[in-house]
Amino acid sequence: MKTTLAVLALLFSLGHAVLQAAPLKVASLHPIVSDLARQVGGANVEVIDILKPGGDIHHFEPAPKDIAAMRGSKLLLASGKELETYLDKLRDSLGSGVKLVEVGEKIPSIPFVCHEEHDHAEHDHHHGEFDPHWWHSAENMKRAARIMSDVLSAADPANEAAYEAGAKAASKRFDELKKWAQKEVAKIDRKDRKLVTAHAAFGYFCKEFGFESMSVLGIGRNDDASSSHIAETIEEIREHGIKAIFPEDQANPKVLAEIARSTGVKIGDPLIADGTAKNAHTFETMLAHNVRAIVAALAPASAN
Ligand SMILES: [Zn+2]
Repeated sequence: MKTTLAVLALLFSLGHAVLQAAPLKVASLHPIVSDLARQVGGANVEVIDILKPGGDIHHFEPAPKDIAAMRGSKLLLASGKELETYLDKLRDSLGSGVKLVEVGEKIPSIPFVCHEEHDHAEHDHHHGEFDPHWWHSAENMKRAARIMSDVLSAADPANEAAYEAGAKAASKRFDELKKWAQKEVAKIDRKDRKLVTAHAAFGYFCKEFGFESMSVLGIGRNDDASSSHIAETIEEIREHGIKAIFPEDQANPKVLAEIARSTGVKIGDPLIADGTAKNAHTFETMLAHNVRAIVAALAPASAN
């Protein structure tokens, strides 16, 4: 009897040790991807934020301290779609123990939204032909949740069921948020669903919520708009009766003020373009913020 008890006690403590197993260590290069890994992975993963909220996804390059922080991770999650132009270089310095996953890779791309009549040569296309900002869409986030569940399960098969449940729960929340956003957007007259922003980051948002998009600067945010492009934008704003233009949390170029002065359009609240705002760096907080700002500026006053 005593032996049985001792064996039971041993088994119990072993079981306990298994339950207390160290979480799967995952490093992430984008705050929205980090949050998704936390939502899907729950207590089974530990997420190391390499690019932290407040960082600049278009100009980040991992420093030696970042590479050191990635060590010991089983996975390194990137946003993908050529957003992280340094991945090839990084792959070499990672070592074989860390698997690099581009979460957005299999999400359908939409072409980088350019001004229709805009001369491509003026644009800064260094990020490729496709818009890399896929996380502005709830449908894409649902796809990403499934991808996240698959990659976490491959790295840690013992917790596959938990990851699947985590992805399902996250998708349900994204669906609810999308329904809320659609209801809000419906307050804007159809003819006014045109989104003029500083950099070309809102293609996926516009596609999902039925806006036409237009950007004053290119995709990378730092390129100066040419004077002919500004003149063209001003002309289009007048022609289409656009009501507001939007700066961004990390890009409030003087050119927007110039355009507002010339056209009389109002300047809306800054939108979160890259998902790295200190106060809103998850898909849910970012989308809610952006929808509120857009509706406040474009819907008739009576609808707000
Ligand atoms: Zn961007």
